[in-house]
Amino acid sequence: MSITTQLHDIQATLPEHVSLVAVSKTKPVSDLMEAYDAGQRIFGENKIQEMCDKFEDMPKDILWHMIGHVQRNKVKYMAPFVNLIHGVDNFKLLKEINKQAKANERTINCLLQIKIAEENSKFGMSLDAASEILQRDDFSEFKHIQITGVMGMATFTDNTNQVENEFNALQTAFNQLKALQPENKAFKTISMGMSGDYKLAINCGSTMVRVGSSIFGERNYNA
Ligand SMILES: *Cc1c(COP(=O)(O)O)cnc(C)c1O
Repeated sequence: MSITTQLHDIQATLPEHVSLVAVSKTKPVSDLMEAYDAGQRIFGENKIQEMCDKFEDMPKDILWHMIGHVQRNKVKYMAPFVNLIHGVDNFKLLKEINKQAKANERTINCLLQIKIAEENSKFGMSLDAASEILQRDDFSEFKHIQITGVMGMATFTDNTNQVENEFNALQTAFNQLKALQPENKAFKTISMGMSGDYKLAINCGSTMVRVGSSIFGERNYNA
């Protein structure tokens, strides 16, 4: 099936309140352009350099989402254009994003990445650590970032019960963090669900799914 068909098939199953991030990491610009021509405007990448290269080559009405782990020293490269950073999991990173956003006279949207998976390989912070950040005095001085929600990745497993529990934990974390900042009307995104589990994620409250291989096909990391 073509990228256009797969994209449209997925879009057709999504409720209106759920947005679709087309995860295009490792894929060539020609594949992204096919999705773009089919109407897709949100693209997710997990490497800053690759996202910057694609940004240069592609139409400027695209919303670029950084979905991977972010190294502090590379924030400056994406700060001029990135629309949403999903993987914010520590205070120092947030501080650097604020600094680089300010230098570009922008506000950058961020999601707090919460660790919901049992496996230790996944990035993210505890709910307590996220709560603490939101309540710091110096956090309130960050005028160039906007925290728009949370992001999480479930364990890679066939055990649907476990994945469901982890998704529910992210929904709970979202509710608790929201309660800490009633004035933040922008806090409404729960980024969870990938090709294998996005339908379950939506049933558990996801408002943003990150789908790669079901749109673009399997990735070949050796290419
Ligand atoms: C690669 C990736 C995805 C998409 O994975 P698929 O299984 O191809 O849909 C989603 N989220 C993150 C953080 C990723 O790194």
